[in-house]
Parts: sequence; C-alpha cells; structure tokens
Amino acid sequence: MLRYITALITCSAIVLGTIHGSAVAADAKFDPSNPFYAPSTLPFHAPPFDKIKDEDYQPAIEAGMAEQLSEIQAIADNPAAATFDNTMVAMEKAGQLFQRAMAAFRVVAGANTNPVLQKVRTEEAPKLAAHRDAIYLNAKLFARVASLYQQRATLKLDPESLRLLGVTYDMFVRSGANLSEADKTKLKKLNEEISTLSNAFSTKLLAATKDGAYLTTDKSALAGLSDAQIAAAAQAAQSRKQEGYVLPLQNTTQQPDLASLSVRATREALFEKSWDRTERSDANDTRDDIAHLAQLRARRAQLLGYPNHAAWKLGDQMAKTPEAALKFMDALVPGATAKAASEGKDIQDVIDAQKGGFTLQPWDWNFYSEQVRKAKYDLNDAEVKPYFELNNVLENGVFYAANQLYGISFKERRDIPVYHSDVRVFEVSDADGKPLALFYCDYFKRDNKNGGAWMDSFVEQSKLLGTLPVVYNVANLPKPTPGEPAFISFTDVTTMFHEFGHALNGMFANTEYPSLSGAATARDFVEFPSQFNEHWALYPAALAHYARHYKTGAPMPADLVAKIKKAENFNQGYKLTELVAAAELDMQWHTLAASAALQQPDAFEKQALEKMHILLAAVPPRYRSSYFSHIWNSGYSAGYYAYLWSEMLDDDAYQWFEEHGGLTRANGDRFRQMVLSRGNTEDLAKMYAAWRGKDPSVEPMMRYRGLQESAH
Ligand SMILES: [Zn+2]
Repeated sequence: MLRYITALITCSAIVLGTIHGSAVAADAKFDPSNPFYAPSTLPFHAPPFDKIKDEDYQPAIEAGMAEQLSEIQAIADNPAAATFDNTMVAMEKAGQLFQRAMAAFRVVAGANTNPVLQKVRTEEAPKLAAHRDAIYLNAKLFARVASLYQQRATLKLDPESLRLLGVTYDMFVRSGANLSEADKTKLKKLNEEISTLSNAFSTKLLAATKDGAYLTTDKSALAGLSDAQIAAAAQAAQSRKQEGYVLPLQNTTQQPDLASLSVRATREALFEKSWDRTERSDANDTRDDIAHLAQLRARRAQLLGYPNHAAWKLGDQMAKTPEAALKFMDALVPGATAKAASEGKDIQDVIDAQKGGFTLQPWDWNFYSEQVRKAKYDLNDAEVKPYFELNNVLENGVFYAANQLYGISFKERRDIPVYHSDVRVFEVSDADGKPLALFYCDYFKRDNKNGGAWMDSFVEQSKLLGTLPVVYNVANLPKPTPGEPAFISFTDVTTMFHEFGHALNGMFANTEYPSLSGAATARDFVEFPSQFNEHWALYPAALAHYARHYKTGAPMPADLVAKIKKAENFNQGYKLTELVAAAELDMQWHTLAASAALQQPDAFEKQALEKMHILLAAVPPRYRSSYFSHIWNSGYSAGYYAYLWSEMLDDDAYQWFEEHGGLTRANGDRFRQMVLSRGNTEDLAKMYAAWRGKDPSVEPMMRYRGLQESAH
C-alpha cells in the first residue's frame, strides 16, 4: 500500500504556536468592515469566503497579532497572583481574531495561492515567528506559568488541566523561556532568519515544480500514455499558453507518468526534470537555502541547550530521542533494501528478456515494475479505475466506513461559502443526530496548490470556547475533463481514507482546551489515526459498498479484489526503501552539530545515504533534500520518521480490530472514546497502551507490508 503518500497535516500548533482565543474587541485601527473583524455568523463559525478578499488577510493577521499580544500582556501584568484560571484559561481564550484570520489564510496560501497571497505570506513569515517569540519569550508570562507548574501537585487540577499546564510549561522551556535576555535576543534573530529562509525555500519550490514540467511538441514522445492522459497534457499546455504537451511535476521524486511512458528518453528527461527541479543553479535553486537552514537550526538547538536540532524536536515526541528514531529506522533498512534489491532483479530480468541492453535506472523502475506487476500481479489501474469514481468512493466508501464504525452521517451543504469552486462542504451529524462538525474537501490538483495532501482546521473544537470543529482535506487528485466522472487509482482512494482519518481526529475532538484539541498531538502520533483509517479501504464490507462499476453499478469482481490485495505487497521493498531513505536524510541533516561546516547538499546527501546503507542506485529517496518540503517548510523537520513510526501504531491497532470483530460500532466507539476524541489530553504512549492493552509492536507492520511471514 502506498502510504504516507505526501500526506501531512499542517500543524498549526508547531508552526504558529498553540495560543488560541475568544472574541474580544479588535484593534482600534482595524477596519470593522473587514470580514474577520467579528466572529463568523455562519453555521459552525465557518469562514465567510464569499466576503473575504485577498487584501483582507494581511490587516486581519496583523490586527490579530496585536490583539493577542495585548491580551497576553494583560495576563502577564495581572497584579493578582497567578491562578490556573487567570493565566492558563485566559491564555487559551486569547487571540481569537488571529486564529480565525490565520486559519482561513493557511488554506488559501496552501491550496489556492496567487501573487498577492504569496506576497502576504512572505511579508508575514518573519512577523509570525516574532509574534510566537513575543509570547513564549515573555518573561512575566513564563514566571506565572512556571509558578503554577511548581505548585501543580497542590492545585487540585483535573487531568486535562494538569496536562495543559505541563504541555504549556514545556513549550515555554523549549522555546527558550529560561534563556538570559541576551540569548533570547539571539534566539529571536535565529527564529526570524529560519522562518524567512524556510519561506524562501517554499516559494522557490513551488515555482521550480511548476517550471520543471516536461514540455514537448512531439506527440510521439508521449507514447504509452492513454488518449485521456495525452488530452490532459494538451490541456495543461493550453492553460499555460504553451505549444504542445505538458506533464506537470508532482512533488515526489518519481512521477506517475513514468509508469506508462514507453520512450526511454522521455522517461529519463521527465525524471531529470523532477530530480533537478531545485538544482539548476537558477533563481529557484534551493541548495544554498537548505544548507543554511540546517546550520541555523543546529545553532538554535545549541543555544537552547541541545546537541542538535533533532534532539530538541524529539524531546516531546513519543520516540523522545533521535537515537531511538534512528534505531527504529535502522531496523527497517536490511529488510527494506533486500526486498528492493530482489524487486530490482525481477525488473532487470524483464529488461534483459526484452533485449533492452541497459541497466535499470530510477526512471525505468515504474515502467518495468508495471510490467512485472501485470505479469506477476495481473492488475492495472485501467482495470480498477471504473470502480473508483471519486464521489462514490467518498460517500459510499470513506463516509460509509465512518458511519459503520462511529454512527456519524453526512449531508452536503451548498450554502456554505468556499474559497474555490472545486471545494465541497458536508455537515456531519453524530449518531444521536446532533451536529458534530463541518467537513470541507478540495481534492483536485491545481497549479496554485502545494503538492501532496493534507488536513487542517478552520475552527478547533473546544468546550471552553463553545466551538465545534470545522475541518478540511486537501489533495492533488487528477481533475477530469469537464463533464466527465473522476476516476481515481486505488492509491488515490487510500489518500482519501488517510486524510479523512486526520479529519476524524479533528471532528471527534471532545476536549476543554483548544490547544489540546483534535490533531494537536505529537508528530510521531498524528499520522496514526490517518494511517489507521486507510485499513478500511480494503475491508471487505466497506469495499463491497463503494467499489462499484460507474456504469453498471456492478460490484467489483472477487478476483479483481483479490488482485488489489495481492498487489498491496507489490513493490513494498522500493516503497519502504524510498521512505526510509528520505527519513534518514531528514535525521542526518538535523543531527548536525552547530560546529559542523556548512554542507554541500549533494555530497552530504550521498554520504548520509551511504552511511545508513541505503544508497541504492535505482531507488532514490522519495524526496531529494533540495525539494523535501516536509522538513524545510512544514513542521516535519527531524520528524519524517514519524510516518513510519505511526505505521507501527496503525498496523498494531488494526490488528486489535481484527482480533475483536473488525468494522463494528462497539469497536469504533471504544476507539473514538479512548483515542480519537482525546487529542493531546494525556500522555500519548499511555493513551495508546490503555486502549490497546499493551505497548505497540513492530511485527504487524512488517507482516502487513509482506516483509515478514505471519506469526499466526
Ligand atoms: Zn497524514
């Protein structure tokens, strides 16, 4: 199963701090006609996208920061002794304008951007970093939090409040609250430099990915693509006002079209476009940025008292230390690379049998592995796609599984304004019929959308604030020509289940405090609910319900289902190797000491992969360092291993379901009550063990991937 895909959730908790808030009069200079001025009057406080114009974001974000700072300062300056209520609860209530402006801005900046929004993003990036610092480096505020933390044993707090206090105190300390004034100034400067560089990286990468598209006027170069794919390539060229055909780049190293393109020169050219997108020594070259980012992050870690960036980042994670994460990954390398090598041999056999006369290269892998797959696994996308019409997958698959497990139901709302016409909105009702959440989905690829797929929230659930969750999923699924149904691959089906798993984590949130709500968990836990939800895509009762032929309504034939399941084990060596390679790269960059020299990214990358025994010529990392957006601009630095770590959890959890009767309301309700609704309200390892009855083990993961025989 192609997991993790490029899915990520935009962790506002990591990027923007976790201070949330309630309605308060806005800054005097802030125009009351700005649509963010007052809380939204729409159902669930949904953002009023019909009223929001591009130029409304920046003044609202700035007024929101000013308002939050004055609220925070009032808490810090309170002459009364610190109490949980006048400090912790007051902090949770602060910054609501900032929150609602940023939540709306994040979606358009990530999924529907334009030059105006990019300019806002560039201008605000350093201010946002400074804003976070102004809160977490406020000495008077920290003194109040610290005094409460010292008295925590006598405050008689409920467990969630105690957790809030512990998490907040830790966040202050990790943000540098214990530093001297001089060091705090250094830290602020480093944070701003890092934020600016990270933003520059992101802007360059978006441009590089767009510019890197493969362009040809020679239709024969596209041999192997279907008529529909060629038509889409012609349309892509047209929309860019270019002659001929365009194959836009996906954000991963491998490109989907490489599986079909039969002209080897075209494959090589497309692969090179992808591989070198940010290494062309032009305005979009990111190598200098990432080398400096790694160095600045190492210096920041040193200032905060940690040996390296990874040690700083992992302190509050389930893995706790880089060593534990590296040990976990090292354990995956031998099995992954041995399987990849044997898959490579199968492919070379096909090349040789066809008298190809060349050695397998990365750009050949998917083309020939597709043939190996057809020969050995006898499944191709064209055969399955008629059974996976997007809307049917959504309503009769993704929604259906959630209904069977948790009793929730969905009704489309066409009256809620959206930021793009591709976006759909559903109201989610709980099993007892009560309103639970709003869910938005924005599935189709656009050139002005960041790559991959992700989940985020417009409104977070909080009993304290009286808010219900408003969450969304974004993906980059191929958009059909107008009027045609959208047929998707099983990989795309999996992506939809995955992102919806994040959405469930947000929608089931049932917590007092917004900063502990929903998906505001550790990075090596946050992918657990999403990856776990992928399992239902192939669960027989769910599959039978949604996998129906778009014309006849006939269920997918049993032999085709069997083929899909068998195909799940196909290419697992390659897939795990490219992921572990990317995760190792991330960890190697971020265990550099502050004293290390500025690195040459290409040499560093090669050396790092050699050192970890994962440098296979035909199996490049899923992301090259220079376009590894997760680690340079989205909160996953020293955290890419988390996808694999979470897989250990999700397979282990699914095994529990298998042992307890599978897709049932009783199982779903117990999981919702003990895990999905709990957010970050308790220690995550303990939460997991309490639900599972034991600590997670790695065996189910190796077994589900076909890398180890069943113990049963
Ligand atoms: Zn995810």
